[in-house]
Amino acid sequence: MQEIKVELTQNPKQKPADESKLGFGKIFTDHMYIMEYNPEKGWHNPRVEPYHAISLEPSAMVFHYGQEMFEGMKAYKTEDGRILLFRPDKNIERANNSNRRLCIPEIPAEDFLNGLKKLVEVDQDWIPTQPGTSLYIRPFVIATDPFLGVRPSDTYLFMIILSPSGAYYESGLDPVKIWIEDDYVRAVRGGIGEAKTGGNYVASLKAQVKAHDEGYSQVLWLDGVERKYIEEVGAMNIFFKINGKVVTPVLNGSILPGVTRASCIDLCRHWGLEVEERRISVDELVAAAKDGSLEECWGSGTAAVISPVGHLRFEDSVMQIGGGGIGPVSQKLYDTVTGIQTGKLEDTLGWTVR
Ligand code: PMP
Repeated sequence: MQEIKVELTQNPKQKPADESKLGFGKIFTDHMYIMEYNPEKGWHNPRVEPYHAISLEPSAMVFHYGQEMFEGMKAYKTEDGRILLFRPDKNIERANNSNRRLCIPEIPAEDFLNGLKKLVEVDQDWIPTQPGTSLYIRPFVIATDPFLGVRPSDTYLFMIILSPSGAYYESGLDPVKIWIEDDYVRAVRGGIGEAKTGGNYVASLKAQVKAHDEGYSQVLWLDGVERKYIEEVGAMNIFFKINGKVVTPVLNGSILPGVTRASCIDLCRHWGLEVEERRISVDELVAAAKDGSLEECWGSGTAAVISPVGHLRFEDSVMQIGGGGIGPVSQKLYDTVTGIQTGKLEDTLGWTVR
């Protein structure tokens, strides 16, 4: 493990006074973590520095061919003042899976975790404490060679920035309306769908704008080939409860393997629920909604943890699920995962890291 140099800011910023107005991703803390890569030294020079703008050549490869990887996770402060990360090993493993797919050199897991812990420790006073708030953590890598040919870059920057973020739900869980997209697609098998990289998100914007214009909060994607099977939501994985069983799309290469998804599956099985990871066609969903066997639907992701889905729209059919309210499994998952994350519940599964 490499030693991290720490340079503290001489000009600390004003911390947000009102935690109810934090929103998401708008405010950044006093420091950042940074590490460089070149073929001679590998990943080197890990350091914590005052948060600052970076200087890149206009020819830097990331601007042209999108060779970049990012992650998203959170830190929480417990009532007794402990600082917890939720399953950071999972995010680090996913980051390196993304790196491999994107021809970015893997980051040593210990330098990643060590940097993450050091940065959060340095900026710990920025972790909000109101219910539902957290410190959002954004690790990312960019390709920096000044070169316009298409090939993997030789040089990279790895950075971590932090952003205090507000409660996703102001007053308890609130069911969302989801648009099932039948025209645009997000990803195809063999493509980059299972990597966390900007290309997947820019591919999603057009349909997201369309869904917003129609009054829906997020898009549910279908597979890119047959446009028949359910994949995932814009920034969440998706779960259904059909006829008493929990079902979620099997990871097929074009779906992002969510850390919250894995946690939901583990918890449901732990509670004795049957969980199936399999292909789910949109026709099966429409039929289940019609005959009343579609009991619950929820999305899972770092931002909202659990988002109950009250309405799904596919073409001309609008499916109302569980009367548009919050199902019992959704509520129990939300309470349990957030309880573990914030230290209110005992972490019997060993998911948190201090
Ligand atoms: N799918 C996509 C496309 C996402 O962006 C996210 C958010 N990272 C997820 C699923 C959920 O993943 P996680 O539970 O790790 O946040």
